[in-house]
Amino acid sequence: MFGLFTRTRPIPVEPPAPDPDSELWPESWMPEGVTVSERYHNLALAIVLVYTTDASGSACAVSCLGCHFQSNKDNRSTYSSHYSLDNASKVANEHASTCRALPRPLPDRPDDATARELLRTQVRGMRRREENVILFIHAFDLGRLRLQRTKEWIETELQRLADDDPGLLRAGHSEYSGRLDLLILHQPGDRS
Ligand SMILES: [Zn+2]
Repeated sequence: MFGLFTRTRPIPVEPPAPDPDSELWPESWMPEGVTVSERYHNLALAIVLVYTTDASGSACAVSCLGCHFQSNKDNRSTYSSHYSLDNASKVANEHASTCRALPRPLPDRPDDATARELLRTQVRGMRRREENVILFIHAFDLGRLRLQRTKEWIETELQRLADDDPGLLRAGHSEYSGRLDLLILHQPGDRS
């Protein structure tokens, strides 16, 4: 276990020459709202991405474009639930070394109505029966490769959702930081 923390960060594999006729070589794919930090290749040349969704790059996520493996929770770290770049790279490299999935086509960028529904479905899924839930933008990190929208777009849509359905979501800007604070309200009724 100790070895996991002392190992140096793996060097990303040199990508194979891209085939311009194939959609399956996402060498330069950088969906809107996401910064791809590193790319690894699995045994079948599917790409495993390490990416961030904010400028600070402090919270990394890992997603395999071959299988459905994705992760943004660092179970190895005792002080942070988000991946550092180093730890995300290790997870991506480990996955790439064992995954045999073939590359999948890249997800299409959804239109606004579809993206909005994706976002709203996810918010509803996070709702709890007994307690309110503080909503952080990072909660959407794993869905960002499908959503393909900027943080600003997401915040605007969440404010719209709060206007449309005030019983579900409350949104307001913090007096001090100006940051958007979001709260998913607990399910009304049947609290016995
Ligand atoms: Zn995989």
